[in-house]
Amino acid sequence: EEQLEYVKSHISTYPDFPKKGIIFRDIFGALTDGKACRYLRDLLVQHIRSQHPDVELIVGLDSRGFLLNLLLATELGIGCAPIRKKGKLAGELVGVEYKLEYGSDIFEMQRSAIKPGQKVIIVDDLLATGGSLAAATQLVRKLGGVILESVVVIELQELQGRQKLDCNVHSLIQY
Ligand code: 5GP
Repeated sequence: EEQLEYVKSHISTYPDFPKKGIIFRDIFGALTDGKACRYLRDLLVQHIRSQHPDVELIVGLDSRGFLLNLLLATELGIGCAPIRKKGKLAGELVGVEYKLEYGSDIFEMQRSAIKPGQKVIIVDDLLATGGSLAAATQLVRKLGGVILESVVVIELQELQGRQKLDCNVHSLIQY
């Protein structure tokens, strides 16, 4: 529809970033436009309200997921929590290791961020290979969260990240 096309037309594309051969898709092009920003919010909120009215917590991935989790949570009248790269969060933490192209990294959450049984939606800007969201789903479940769905703005379909995930995935825009 019209709102979706408007948001899509404001997604920027950068060939050969961060390295040669990668086509980088960027939501910041949409966030710098007031109307695209509002449409993006409305489209995501409409989806969650209609499909998952029982959601209790939005969990956002470091770092562009943070732009979405607070936005969606305040609109839905629920809370939000971050998943961060190792070493950034205080208090009692739970972590999962995940593989990168070279080596590995660790995602962490505060143990108190999720109450066991709480219904969670995970958000991020973009689904590529699915490694990040797969680790995020593991972490949320380690804390006892029940994942209703993972929601992303952009899905890079040829990388088949969706197949790495054992939860529903909703994407607004596909390339
Ligand atoms: P994945 O783990 O699915 O391979 O990669 C997803 C993560 O890497 C997301 O957190 C996303 O922000 C980042 N990422 C990978 N490719 C791109 C891209 O083309 N554009 C943007 N903005 N982020 C990307």
